[in-house]
Amino acid sequence: MTGNTEVVVIGGGYAGVMAANRLTRRDDVTVTLINPRPTFVHRIRLHQLVGGTQGAVVDYREVLAESVRLVVDTVTHIDVAGRGVTLAAGGTAGYDYLVYAVGSGSADPRVPGAAAFAHPIATLEEAQRLRPVLDAAPTAAVTVVGAGMLGIEAAAELAEAGRGVTLVCGEALGPYLHPRVRRSVARRLTGLGVTVLQGAGARVTAVTPDAVRLRGGDELPSGVTVWTAGFGVPDLAARSGLRTDALGRLLTDETLTSVDDVRVVAAGDSAAPSDLPLRMSCQAAGPLGAHAADTVLSRIADEQPSFIDVGFFGLCVSLGRRAATVQLASKDDTAKRFSLGGRLAVKIKEDSYKGLIKHLADEAREPGSYTWKFKDGKRRQRVRAERAERGEGSATTRRTA
Ligand SMILES: Cc1cc2nc3c(=O)[nH]c(=O)nc-3n(C[C@H](O)[C@H](O)[C@H](O)COP(=O)(O)OP(=O)(O)OC[C@H]3O[C@@H](n4cnc5c(N)ncnc54)[C@H](O)[C@@H]3O)c2cc1C
Repeated sequence: MTGNTEVVVIGGGYAGVMAANRLTRRDDVTVTLINPRPTFVHRIRLHQLVGGTQGAVVDYREVLAESVRLVVDTVTHIDVAGRGVTLAAGGTAGYDYLVYAVGSGSADPRVPGAAAFAHPIATLEEAQRLRPVLDAAPTAAVTVVGAGMLGIEAAAELAEAGRGVTLVCGEALGPYLHPRVRRSVARRLTGLGVTVLQGAGARVTAVTPDAVRLRGGDELPSGVTVWTAGFGVPDLAARSGLRTDALGRLLTDETLTSVDDVRVVAAGDSAAPSDLPLRMSCQAAGPLGAHAADTVLSRIADEQPSFIDVGFFGLCVSLGRRAATVQLASKDDTAKRFSLGGRLAVKIKEDSYKGLIKHLADEAREPGSYTWKFKDGKRRQRVRAERAERGEGSATTRRTA
């Protein structure tokens, strides 16, 4: 390709900012980042915003390369054939390549009353809406519904702030956690005063303004109900006619290129490479963002992009400000029986908060410098096995722009 190349990145989260910064490696690439807010949301601190201990917003000037043009708007449609996007404010933007990095948010709660009376906290605006509700009801019983990482961290944060908290887990506390680690997390939560409800009956079937109803009919008084059960993704790709997985993540090959269009590349929570998506996490979003940029840069250079190689080390879960657990995992993200706790875990968690911002800032200053340690050499095998099981062909198609 000769001349200037226009790349539009949709979504200014961890994956989108990483991709936008990395794309500035080439002077002949113009990068436009479209995001609904003028500030970067450090999402993994949102439970702290809810607990009132930390903000979760970072100035884009800190994390975004100067040459990236930031457009504060929301993309409402992708016109794949016309290579353009439509913006909520009415304008359009054309592209040669598009990076789809719209992230995730709260899943649609299908439980009666949840949409009206429970408070989701997976986005900045949701977390901000909950704060005054909590302030207005300082002694109200709080119920946190859902005990994935978000529910555990929010319950711990609120209990440490002196709230009476019940955590309704669904079947199990922290389904990702190894049973041994789960027991230690449960002990810490109990120590903070959280009532942890687990097992078949610990499922919310309805929410009212002042209670939650459990399977089996019991009612639990709840002045404030916090909803953390599940993440969903924006339906922009599906609405725009691009193929997605069942959740709505853009289906790509192992280079992160859309199975429908060679000029569309995805990263972060909203990408489903080979229909075998990585766990929604910052841990994956940074490397996927960098890889998405590398795929675009390879295509511009008329080279074959490489396959993703992203592994995991585990998961850090904060348990209030003074405790944390690092659940260790194999690179394919299977939890091991080992974990780290105590001050070391608190330090690792705090370092990870800061490290994420630093990685983005470093990439802004020196595009191409970001590397990641954890790779998953066995992914290719799993992808092949999965595709064989589905009766599909090779893991990627050789494509040229
Ligand atoms: C409280 C909390 C704690 C968490 N803790 C951890 C943790 O400890 N470790 C971990 O690895 N992960 C954690 N996660 C998950 C992690 O935050 C996500 O996996 C991560 O944010 C994904 O990054 P992303 O760039 O794909 O998407 P996001 O960070 O969600 O960014 C997507 C961006 O795209 C924007 N966008 C969406 N639609 C449009 C559109 N149509 N037009 C323009 N822009 C759009 C969004 O507004 C957003 O700014 C946590 C999440 C939460 C909520």
